[in-house]
Amino acid sequence: MEFITTVQQMQRYAEQQRCQGRRIAVVPTMGYLHEGHLSLIRLARQHAEVVITTLFVNPTQFAPGEDYERYPRDLERDRRLCAEAGSDALFAPSVEEMYPGGYTTRVSVLGITRKFEGQFRPGHFDGVATIVTKLFLATKPHVAVFGQKDWQQTLVVRQLIRDLNFDIELVVAPTVREPDGLAMSSRNVYLSAQERQQATVLYRALRAAAERAAAGERRRRELVAAMESVLREVPVLVLDYAAAADAYTLEEPELFAPGQEVVLLIAARLGQTRLIDNERVRIPEE
Ligand code: AMP
Repeated sequence: MEFITTVQQMQRYAEQQRCQGRRIAVVPTMGYLHEGHLSLIRLARQHAEVVITTLFVNPTQFAPGEDYERYPRDLERDRRLCAEAGSDALFAPSVEEMYPGGYTTRVSVLGITRKFEGQFRPGHFDGVATIVTKLFLATKPHVAVFGQKDWQQTLVVRQLIRDLNFDIELVVAPTVREPDGLAMSSRNVYLSAQERQQATVLYRALRAAAERAAAGERRRRELVAAMESVLREVPVLVLDYAAAADAYTLEEPELFAPGQEVVLLIAARLGQTRLIDNERVRIPEE
């Protein structure tokens, strides 16, 4: 596996692959890789001959007071896991490489970024849109693989690709979960043993609402109430939001339409750890 740390080397490698007619897939990550990331790398392999994984803990997508400094990092382990999963290259630039002195450009996606994560993490999606743009320009991919785990982020990237005319196909990969349903996340290492147990409540809440929707419940408030009633089982959980919205516009009508694709979204804090999860469900046709 190639290990690349500068944008210039990355662009040169990508250009060589393109000149040989190879399709490139990119898998952007912040590292501390887990089975969710590795599933993205394996899925990328199905869409392209060359898989480039990127590893960059992007400071501009963390709001002040968030966990940028203590975000878990283990480059040597990531390098090994990435190679084992079949990545052809790992692009791991430094902060100075991505944002050198004098850097002043920011990419902002409007609209879809106002709610949910955008509301609770000011500036987060500007940081995401900016770094994704820079990673696309560095790795020159034909395909980009992102996880459903960060559903709103996939919508932001889709909008970015459309608006800036990136000639890139977006592939959204399913969420990989622990056996008890907890979505894998690099941040799960922050959880104490007790919090780790309590954290399963997010997925149970999503499932409760998803089952109501699959059984024909179309009233948004009822779907949200179904989540909230399960979430109350863990009183120490601090809820940022539990919401049901159109899966693509994130609009929140009082009544969903038959056949509508709905996303159920939860963001909550357990002690020092902020967790997000979501589930998509289609309202049955009448
Ligand atoms: P992160 O390193 O957390 O920024 O995540 C990098 C990519 O992996 C993003 O596209 C995430 O949506 C995706 N991802 C994170 N957790 C999971 C998971 N449990 N299952 C599948 N994909 C995931």
